[in-house]
Amino acid sequence: MSTTINIALSKGRILEDTLPLLARAGVEPLEDINKSRKLIFDTSDADVKLTVIRAADVPTYVQYGAADLGVSGKDVLMEYDGDGLYELLDLKIAQCRLMVAEPEQLAKNDDPKNWTRLRIATKYVNIAKRHFAAKGIQTDIIKLYGSMELAPLVGLSDRIVDLVSTGKTLKANGLVEVEHIADISSWLVANKASMKMKHKKLKALVEQLAIAVQDQS
Ligand code: AMP
Repeated sequence: MSTTINIALSKGRILEDTLPLLARAGVEPLEDINKSRKLIFDTSDADVKLTVIRAADVPTYVQYGAADLGVSGKDVLMEYDGDGLYELLDLKIAQCRLMVAEPEQLAKNDDPKNWTRLRIATKYVNIAKRHFAAKGIQTDIIKLYGSMELAPLVGLSDRIVDLVSTGKTLKANGLVEVEHIADISSWLVANKASMKMKHKKLKALVEQLAIAVQDQS
C-alpha cells in the first residue's frame, strides 16, 4: 500500500481556514489552489497530497478510502450520517450554528413548545427530519440546495433550517432564530482502514494538527 496521505478539502471557508493549520503541520500546497483548476495538489511534504472536491462529497471520499483524511463541516457529517469514518479532531474552524429560523412577524406569536406540524425548507433534510421526529413534531420538508432564506419570503415554507454565523443574512431577509439545533465547526475525519494501514504517518500528522488547533485559539 502506498504511504501517500490524501486529504480531501473543499474550496471556500474550509480551505481558507485549514491551510494555515496544515502549514503549521508542515504541509503547504506547492501552488495556489484558488488559482488552479486542478483537483489534486502536491505539497511541501512529498507524502501528502490535497484533493479539492465539493464539501458534501468529502465524507463519501473518506468513507470509501478515496481520501485518507478529510475536513468536513459537522453539518455535512450529521447530514451524511455514515459509519465508515472516524471523527478525529475538532479543528474549531468555520464555526457557526444550525438553527431553525422564521419570519420576524411569525416569531412574535410563536412558541417552539407548541409546534406540532411544520413546513420547513432546508438542504439538511436528514438532520431536520431527525431533530423534529425526536420531539414528536411532524414535518413537511422541502429540499433546497441554497438560499434557504428566500423560502419563507415567497411562501415556499414557513420556516427554514440553516447555518447562521453573524446572523446578518437572516436579518437582511426579515428572519429570526427560534430554535438551536447544533453548534457547528469543521472536523478532521479519517478513513478507518487508513488509520490502521498508515497509522504512523497519520498519527504524526494528526498530532501536529492538534497542536496547531490549540495554538490558534
Ligand atoms: P451569516 O450572515 O454570517 O449569519 O451567514 C449566514 C450564511 O452563510 C448562510 O447562508 C449560511 O448557510 C452560510 N454560512 C454561515 N456559516 C457557514 C459555515 N461555517 N459554513 C458554510 N456556510 C456557512
